[in-house]
Amino acid sequence: MNSHAEANADIVWHDNAVSRADRWQRHGLHGATVWFTGLSASGKSTIANAVAEQLVLADRPAYVLDGDNIRHGLNAGLGFSAEDRVENVRRIGEVARLMADAGLVVLAPVISPYRSGRDAIRRAHAAADLRFVEVFVDTPLAMCEERDPKGLYARARAGSLDGMTGVDDPYEAPTSPEVVIEPAPLQDQVARVLDALGAVGGTE
Ligand code: ADP
Repeated sequence: MNSHAEANADIVWHDNAVSRADRWQRHGLHGATVWFTGLSASGKSTIANAVAEQLVLADRPAYVLDGDNIRHGLNAGLGFSAEDRVENVRRIGEVARLMADAGLVVLAPVISPYRSGRDAIRRAHAAADLRFVEVFVDTPLAMCEERDPKGLYARARAGSLDGMTGVDDPYEAPTSPEVVIEPAPLQDQVARVLDALGAVGGTE
């Protein structure tokens, strides 16, 4: 009945006894995924966490699915090669889709450097009839390098860290994200994301 079943004919998809509509209605939920992409230190996690705080204050169950944190568990075996970055993003996208289906507003701050990976997650959400909001945290590289809270850019420039996105690894900016966040006070950036969620029916 869907691509999961087709992927392995021996594994049969088991429909959930409780439909999404029943679950969401019963608990007053409205799941969605808000995907924050951008360079390291662009502010993705900071904005995502601040948005989550506002949503929870408004009684909207929200969860931050932080790319760095997922690397400690589910994606612990993955590194930063192109192949591993693709798989890292694919898995986080799958988890986001499941959590959004469950009814959470998922806030996913993940560098996700490749457009194709982000677009695949967008398509998977569309196929599942789930809202997907791509937020491009468009902080210039120079500003990210200046912030450098983890010292990663300094290490990359000194040659002691290979494959740093934006330095010696590619970053493909989104071509048509729902939201572009430029450098601004945090509360303004948060308001932009909340506005976008409202505009697509996510905060009603
Ligand atoms: P990312 O998740 O994209 O790697 P972080 O959220 O960890 O980035 O933020 C990187 C640094 O930028 C942190 O030191 C954070 O305090 C700072 N920062 C985040 N948002 C802003 C902002 N709107 N204005 C100034 N500094 C910010």
